[in-house]
Amino acid sequence: MESIVLFGPPGAGKGTQAQRIMDSTGLPQVSTGDMLRAAVSAGTPTGIEAKKYMDAGQLVPDEVIIALIKDRIQEADAVNGVMFDGFPRTIPQAEALSGITEVSHVIAIEVPDGKIVERICGRYTCADCGAVFHDSFNPTTVEGKCDSCGSGQFKRRADDNADTVMSRLNAYHEQTSPLADWYRLKGIFHVIDGDREIDHITEDILSALK
Ligand code: ADP
Ligand code: ADP
Ligand code: ZN
Repeated sequence: MESIVLFGPPGAGKGTQAQRIMDSTGLPQVSTGDMLRAAVSAGTPTGIEAKKYMDAGQLVPDEVIIALIKDRIQEADAVNGVMFDGFPRTIPQAEALSGITEVSHVIAIEVPDGKIVERICGRYTCADCGAVFHDSFNPTTVEGKCDSCGSGQFKRRADDNADTVMSRLNAYHEQTSPLADWYRLKGIFHVIDGDREIDHITEDILSALK
């Protein structure tokens, strides 16, 4: 079992790229953000605990995240590995991960801080299939109709606002970016310029995975 990690700041394009490379890798996308949002909507104890951190743009405590991942990795579709999106985000999470699954590649999508706010504030997703769009950079081809599933229902995240973005960027620089060196030392770290056309980034990721 060999997993892939998609690494980068909030709004870098991890989710967008995960959806596009899922067929080529054959690995399911495991987004801790999506799992937490599902827990918040369902009102589970994990969701209630996580919501205060998410609303404030802070990281959810490591124990909560590691417990979620340990459960998720037991599921049948994870037998050949998974594609992590937004996990690990701290050194303790990465240490826990090394005891759970082998990581073959870490794909770091780099986008300058100055571009992150507009990316996040224009983000919306299909309420039915989760496909990710952007008001100006990546709108649906037909207005009001999801390109992937045809649905007309979309949603925006409560934490995708200019105030919370600054806290999320701080959390990234202070707690998550130190992981880059950790993985670079292991020789599995690939840097991809994420400030380009979505298709070009996908091509570069697929060649890094070869
Ligand atoms: P992440 O999962 O890293 O938080 P997303 O994939 O949700 O990021 O992308 C954040 C926003 O930026 C979305 O609205 C998405 O449509 C848009 N986006 C993704 N990749 C690019 C790109 N290469 N150029 C411009 N906008 C992009
Ligand atoms: P983005 O890529 O835009 O930052 P995510 O959906 O990955 O968004 O995460 C949304 C929020 O969920 C984060 O701001 C954080 O509060 C929480 N979260 C997600 N993944 C983790 C993680 N691995 N560790 C701690 N908190 C997390
Ligand atoms: Zn859809």
